[in-house]
Amino acid sequence: YNVPKAINEPVKGYAPGSKEREQVLATFKELYSTTVDVPLYIGAEEIRTGKTKTINPPFDHKKVVGTYHEAEKHHIEKAIATALAARQQWVNLSWEQRASIFLKAAELLAGPYRAKINAATMIAQAKTVHQAEIDSACEFIDFLRFNVEFMSQIYAEQPVSSEGIWNRLEYRALEGFVYAVTPFNFTAIAGNLPAAPALMGNVVVWKPSASQVYSANVIMEVFKLAGLPDGVINMVHGNPVMITDTLLASPDFAGIHYTGSTSVFNDIWAKIGQNISKYKTYPRIVGETGGKDFVVAHPSSIPAQVATALTRGAFEYQGQKCSAASRAYIPQSIWPAVKEHLVNDIKSFKIGSPEDPTNFISAVIHEGSFDKLAKYIDAAKAAPDAEIIAGGTYDKSIGWFIDPTVIVTTNPNYDTLSTELFGPVLTIYVFEDAKWAETLKLVDETSPYALTGAIFSQDRYAIEEAAKALENSAGNFYINDKPTGAVVGQQPFGGARASGTNDKAGSVLNLYRWVSPRTIKETL
Ligand code: GLU
Repeated sequence: YNVPKAINEPVKGYAPGSKEREQVLATFKELYSTTVDVPLYIGAEEIRTGKTKTINPPFDHKKVVGTYHEAEKHHIEKAIATALAARQQWVNLSWEQRASIFLKAAELLAGPYRAKINAATMIAQAKTVHQAEIDSACEFIDFLRFNVEFMSQIYAEQPVSSEGIWNRLEYRALEGFVYAVTPFNFTAIAGNLPAAPALMGNVVVWKPSASQVYSANVIMEVFKLAGLPDGVINMVHGNPVMITDTLLASPDFAGIHYTGSTSVFNDIWAKIGQNISKYKTYPRIVGETGGKDFVVAHPSSIPAQVATALTRGAFEYQGQKCSAASRAYIPQSIWPAVKEHLVNDIKSFKIGSPEDPTNFISAVIHEGSFDKLAKYIDAAKAAPDAEIIAGGTYDKSIGWFIDPTVIVTTNPNYDTLSTELFGPVLTIYVFEDAKWAETLKLVDETSPYALTGAIFSQDRYAIEEAAKALENSAGNFYINDKPTGAVVGQQPFGGARASGTNDKAGSVLNLYRWVSPRTIKETL
């Protein structure tokens, strides 16, 4: 099929004095001096229910940048009916027409909307300009462009025919609607989770995270401007349990595209099970959930390289990536060198508002997250088997600021080696060099998750041993690199075990989940 060849959107540098830096900071200022009032988008309607919540930037939580309106149950029912009504035309549109809409959205994000989507992500989610750029610009654009190419590969996949017989596969949309539930931490994921099923011909009811509504609103603006017909993607906010229960009670519920916590995903899965006999069709359940991602260093690894992977992997975007390095296993022989680099790096970090591009990190997402992290930091201070070697301080007077913290423990079962904290807290276990094989077993068995992980070594045998011992411990396995920053089309992303269904966002595997093929055999 003839579709534009997808290439990864180049990451802009935002160097001092550059035009892009000037532009994004001006847009940040402009957005910061006004407020938005985010409605529910149901079909062509913007519904303002009057039941509102304020939107406050995490790094300046007394500041109000907007409000959003919360749905009642009848709004959710209306969203279902609207999506199903829109479905009739949407499924009949040729795939090239659908693809054009999402390719157009990518062009808008790459050009005229780049500064706005980045500034909105900086404000709503407290991302630095670099973190916003690799997410809300590049990764989002990549998802849109690569998915079109993957879609064309799926449609090209056809069975063989034989003499007098013509076999065909028709890749139809699912029969019903898809529910997209998206997280705060990636604007790209928030956009891709409704967009991928819609591209494959589905209609969607989308509930963004309450902490990402502000940038989700810009995503809707871009989709609409790109020509997405009304009702194909409907955006709702409000009580998540009510929204989920209402959507899952519909016989037309046909699938869920989810990124968020493991516990909520488990609840949703159980509810789908309870409702199963109501549905017209078995729903597709696609989810990316938590992580407790490891870095394991072999004695042959280069200490400075390990330390850099830890500082970037654990602390970029305040450790709030599912892929963040949150537990590390370092051999005794290189620990003093790794520690020195790590502590020095952390000392050089500047923390504050993303409006100042020299800040390396900003605040964590909300008070709940701040309180949880502070609790675990305090527990480490009091624990006889743990020591804090960097950070350990926090301040919520202006924003939800947690200083990058490193806990070193002598206990391989220490709580924060297995509990997902989702913040700038790294836990390190130092092992005896001779215990390499036992340590690999420990890495595999300590956490229920299996999202990302990294091995550092200059020794090929050790790399091979780790790759085998950890074959089920991470869906994205990195050799001599940090475990974050997967690039669409290059490192398809996702994990199994408690980390999700491993359907690899931004890949052909993911898109296959959004079609219900019909096989046609015709005798000629
Ligand atoms: N894909 C992102 C990465 O590789 C992480 C996505 C997430 O946090 O869910 O860093």
